[in-house]
Amino acid sequence: MPLASYPRKKGEKLAPLSERLARLGLNKDWDYVLHLPIRYEDETSLTPIGRLEPGQTQQCEGSVVRSERIRRPSGEQLQAIVADGSGTVTVRLLHFYPSQCKQLAVGQKVRLYGPVREGFLGLEMLHPKIRNALNGLSLPTTLTPVYPAGEGITQTWLRKRISRALLDVEIKDLIPLEILKELKLPPLAEALRYIHHPPVGASLSALDERTDPAWLRLKFDELVAQQIALRHSRALKALYRAPQIAPNQHPVTDKLFEELPFSLTRAQARVFEEIRKDLGKIVPMNRLVQGDVGSGKTVIAALAATLCIDAGFQAALMAPTEILAEQHFEKIAQWLTPLGIKIVWLAGKQKTKERNDSLQSIRSGEAQLIVGTHALIQESVQFSNLGLAIVDEQHRFGVQQRLALRQTKDNRLPHLLMLSATPIPRTLAMSYLADLDVSVIDELPAGRQPITTKLVSLNRKHEVMSVINQQVAQGRQVYWVCPLIEESEKIDLTAATQTYEEITTQLPNLRVGLVHGALPAEDKQKIMQSFKEGKLDVLVATTVIEVGVDVPNATLMVIEHAERFGLAQLHQLRGRVGRGAQKSFCVLLYGELSDTGRERLKVIRESNDGFEIARRDLEIRGPGEFLGAKQSGVPLLRFADLEHDSSLLESARDFATQWLKDDPENANRHAKRWFSGYENYLEA
Ligand code: ADP
Ligand code: MG
Repeated sequence: MPLASYPRKKGEKLAPLSERLARLGLNKDWDYVLHLPIRYEDETSLTPIGRLEPGQTQQCEGSVVRSERIRRPSGEQLQAIVADGSGTVTVRLLHFYPSQCKQLAVGQKVRLYGPVREGFLGLEMLHPKIRNALNGLSLPTTLTPVYPAGEGITQTWLRKRISRALLDVEIKDLIPLEILKELKLPPLAEALRYIHHPPVGASLSALDERTDPAWLRLKFDELVAQQIALRHSRALKALYRAPQIAPNQHPVTDKLFEELPFSLTRAQARVFEEIRKDLGKIVPMNRLVQGDVGSGKTVIAALAATLCIDAGFQAALMAPTEILAEQHFEKIAQWLTPLGIKIVWLAGKQKTKERNDSLQSIRSGEAQLIVGTHALIQESVQFSNLGLAIVDEQHRFGVQQRLALRQTKDNRLPHLLMLSATPIPRTLAMSYLADLDVSVIDELPAGRQPITTKLVSLNRKHEVMSVINQQVAQGRQVYWVCPLIEESEKIDLTAATQTYEEITTQLPNLRVGLVHGALPAEDKQKIMQSFKEGKLDVLVATTVIEVGVDVPNATLMVIEHAERFGLAQLHQLRGRVGRGAQKSFCVLLYGELSDTGRERLKVIRESNDGFEIARRDLEIRGPGEFLGAKQSGVPLLRFADLEHDSSLLESARDFATQWLKDDPENANRHAKRWFSGYENYLEA
C-alpha cells in the first residue's frame, strides 16, 4: 500500500515536500539515481485465478461478480468476488474509499496484485493493488521496483522521479574498466538500469538478497566511496594539532601510582605506555582501549588524565550513565583531591547554582579534571584548554556524541581516548573506524576467580533466596537485576518493585535497596553509596547498574528474565561481581525459553570471555549495535553489509588507496556522488 494513503490525523500537516525528500537523502538527481529499490514486485505476468496459490504474491485479472459492504464490529469492510472462468478469488478491503466501491462494482474488469491467502470463502486477497483492466491493460516488461519512501511520498511519484533522473544524469563510469573486469563487475550505467528495472526473468532472489553482480557493483562503489571519505577525514584531522603532553615532571601521576592498592598488570602497563606515547605527539590521539569487563580500564583512564593535568591541561571524562560517572568521580576525587587537584562534576540533573559554578570553572581553566555524563557535550560547556577527552563505555554513545566532546578551537583538537568492553569486529574497524588505533588489555588482574554461572528456571525463584542468605551470612553482597520490559521506566519499575517486595518479605532480616532509572539522581546516588559502603546487603536494580559499577564485595548477581537481555549485556551485568578475591556467582533466572534462547544462555554459562561472547552475539544480532551509528542518524552504509560483503570491502579498500594515488580527481568525484547528503561525515 502506498504510504500516502495511510490515514493521517485531522489537521495534522505534512512538512513541505522538499523537506520530506531531504529526510530520505534526496536532493540532487544523483541522489535519486542512487535511491535503490528495497524489493520488487513481479507484475509482468498473469496467473489464472484457478491457479493462485496461498502464500504467494501473484497477479490475476477478472470480472467482479459480486460486491458488498459488510458491517463488522471493527468497522465496515468491502468484499468483492472476482472470477475469470478458471476460478474465483475474494478481494477484501478492511477500510476503503468510495472510489474503491466503484472500482469493485459488479461487472468491472480488474487487475489484482498482492499476497494470496486462505480465507473463509476460499482464496482471498487482502488489500491488493487494484487496477481497472477495461481495455486490455498491457503487462510491464520489467519488474516493478519498490523504493524506500517517506510520509506522503508515493511509489508512483518516486518511480517517475527516479526514471527521469536516470535519463537526465550522465552515468559515466569513474572506476577504471580493468578493475571492474578483474572483480567481474558490470559497468555502472548497466548495473543501475538493471537494479531499477530488472527485465522479466531476472532472478528476484539474487536481487533481493543483493548477491546479483549489479548489486555487488553498487555495493563496491559505496564501499569505495566510504574508504575515500574516511581517508579524506583522516587527512583533515592530520591538519589538526593537539597539545603535546609529555611533562618532564609528573607529580600527580606519580602520586596516583603510589596510591594504587595494586600494581598494573602487564597488559595495563603496555596499554598505558601506548597512550603515553600518543599523548606526547602533536597529532591528536584517536585511541580505543578494549578490555574485557573487569580488566581495569578505569585506572588507565585516570593515569592518562593525571599525565594531562601534570602537563597543565584539562582532562574530561564522560560516562554514559549518572551512576557510572558518579562512581568515577568519587574514586578519582578520593585519589586526587588530597593533592590539590580541582575536579568538577557535571551532569544533567544538577542544581543551577552548582552547574553554573562548574561551567564557570571549566571555562576559567580552574577545573583540571571534569567528570560527567552527556552534559559534558552541551553547548554551554566551554573548556579553557582541554588536552584529553576520555569516553568510557564508548559503544554506548553515538558517533556524533563522541566527536562532540572534542571541541576544536582554531586548529587544535584534544587527544581522544575511548574505553570499551565490547570488541569491535575487524570489518567494522576497517570501514567506519579506519583511523582508530586500538589497544587491547588482554589480561585480567591476578587472583580473580572465574565466576560460576547457573541457569535456573523462574519457577525456582524461591530457592535463590536461600543462596542470597548464604552469601549475606558470609558478609557478601548481592545484586538482583530486573529487565526493562519496555523502553519505558514506568513499566520497567513494576518488575523491580515486585521483586523488591518479595525479597523483603521472604528475607526480613536483610537490608535491601531498590534503584532504578526513574529515581531522582540524588536518591540513586544515596542508595548506590549505601550499597558501596556495605550498608545494604541486597541491591535490587534495573539495568541502570549495567555498566562499570564497581563494588568488589558483591559476590552474587541474580538476573531475572535473563532471556530478555542481549548476550553482551548479560556479560556486562555478570561483570559486576567477581571483582574482588572472593568466589562469585551469577544466577540467570529464565522464563520461557525458545531453543535459540536456551542456546544463547548456554553461551553465557559456558564462557567468561567477553570477546568470545561478543563474537557469538554478533552472529546473532549483526554489527549495527557496535557502531553507535544507530543513534547518530547518519546511514553511513546503505547497501553494503559488513558481514556478508567483507571480501568486497577488502577489494574496495585496496582499490581506494590506489585510486587516490593514481587519479585523485575522479576518486573524489566518486565519493561526492555517494555522500552528497552527508558532507558532515566527510568533515567529521
Ligand atoms: P573495567 O575494565 O571493567 O572498567 P575497572 O576499571 O572497573 O574495570 O576495574 C575493575 C576492578 O579491578 C576495580 O576494582 C579496579 O580497582 C581493580 N583493578 C584494576 N586494575 C587492577 C590491577 N592491576 N590489579 C588488581 N586490581 C585491579
Ligand atoms: Mg569500566
